[in-house]
Amino acid sequence: MEATQDAIIIGGGMVGAAVATALGQAGMTVTLVEGGAPPAPIAEDAPFDLRVSSLNLASQRLLDDVGAWSHIPAARRCPFRQIEAWDERERHTTHFAAADLGLEAFGHFVENRVIRHALWQRLAALPQVTTLCQASPVALVTGGHQALVELDDGRLLAGRLVVGADGANSRVRELAGITTHDHDYHQRALIVNVRTRLPQQDTSWQRFTPEGPQAMLPLPGPYASLVWYGPPEATREREALDDDALRAAIERDFPARLGGIEAVLGRASFPLRRRHAERYTRPRLALVGDAAHVIHPLAGQGLNLGLQDAAELSERVIAAHAAGEDPGNRRPLAGYARARRPRNLAMIAAMESFHHLFTGAAPLRQAGAAGLAVAERLGPAKQRVMRYALGI
Ligand SMILES: Cc1cc2nc3c(=O)[nH]c(=O)nc-3n(C[C@H](O)[C@H](O)[C@H](O)COP(=O)(O)OP(=O)(O)OC[C@H]3O[C@@H](n4cnc5c(N)ncnc54)[C@H](O)[C@@H]3O)c2cc1C
Repeated sequence: MEATQDAIIIGGGMVGAAVATALGQAGMTVTLVEGGAPPAPIAEDAPFDLRVSSLNLASQRLLDDVGAWSHIPAARRCPFRQIEAWDERERHTTHFAAADLGLEAFGHFVENRVIRHALWQRLAALPQVTTLCQASPVALVTGGHQALVELDDGRLLAGRLVVGADGANSRVRELAGITTHDHDYHQRALIVNVRTRLPQQDTSWQRFTPEGPQAMLPLPGPYASLVWYGPPEATREREALDDDALRAAIERDFPARLGGIEAVLGRASFPLRRRHAERYTRPRLALVGDAAHVIHPLAGQGLNLGLQDAAELSERVIAAHAAGEDPGNRRPLAGYARARRPRNLAMIAAMESFHHLFTGAAPLRQAGAAGLAVAERLGPAKQRVMRYALGI
């Protein structure tokens, strides 16, 4: 058996790698177990990947605090300074400008693989962190004075704390016997990367239609990531179109504001599901990120919530360790769950209302459209809502 670590983190995605860097740079010994390969470097002029996330300011701060933000090249991140939302006929508009809040930008759109690679670059500089790739847990014992994790390659790890950061289908969650509340929205999100006729944009916009929202996330240069939500069958049909037919469908059905597209560069679709773990902790164990909650991607908050879990858990565990306490003790873990669960639930509920307001029965849809108009007139309250969602 390997020497007992302060923490064993299962899952080296963006959230798991964020916890590992935070604990590692605080001097704690960490083993990070990743089921796949380590992230590969990305050339500055490589085509944009389809998985892109909006990082709010709180997420940027966390990445900066753990020394990863500086590893994200400017050529691979796109700041957004305005957010707009319209109803189907583009009548009711909500507009938020970063400048109104005295900010330079609301955040950045960055490819998931770029964020992950930046975190792993930082990990490589932390001698207390050991990474084990192509390995997965097969058994877990979390009671007693240390937790034990058996890996599928036969290795046995011991640690004071186990962190489950292994995504929506978390094996750690399953091994710990934590059940989830699940819901299938019966919708898919089609992501299409395009080269736009318009030059670089700094506005992220969204139009709500009865079929589902359509969104534009700007990427650096004349590129954008389009998200087209819809019923599974219609989405599959669109996904199967050839590039020219898909371009024509987008130009016909998306708001004219898009300004035409020059080329379709890639597409993929994902089912939309909600999943929430019935608890975030067990003795010596905590779940973070998608292992704890999967939310509707409508407002691009999934990763932001996961990174806030990472920040909250790390802060409490590091404080316990610094005070000479066992980092797997009940107190820091209970504090983490108490702090994060209500906030994540609030975001799940907000996404739920949005989804039903805009894709439900006609009167509800009208209420949704009216909501946009109301949001526009909220004044200071609008700013409070924005500040919460943007982590400022
Ligand atoms: C269509 C769509 C659009 C989205 N857009 C946004 C957005 O704009 N903004 C935003 O904030 N969020 C967005 N999200 C959500 C975001 O992608 C997720 O919340 C985020 O990826 C979760 O990160 P994670 O590290 O918790 O999990 P993951 O990214 O799933 O990482 C899990 C890691 O664990 C590893 N792993 C899995 N199983 C095992 C195992 N058994 N053993 C060892 N390792 C394992 C995996 O290889 C992976 O590296 C979107 C989601 C979807 C579906």
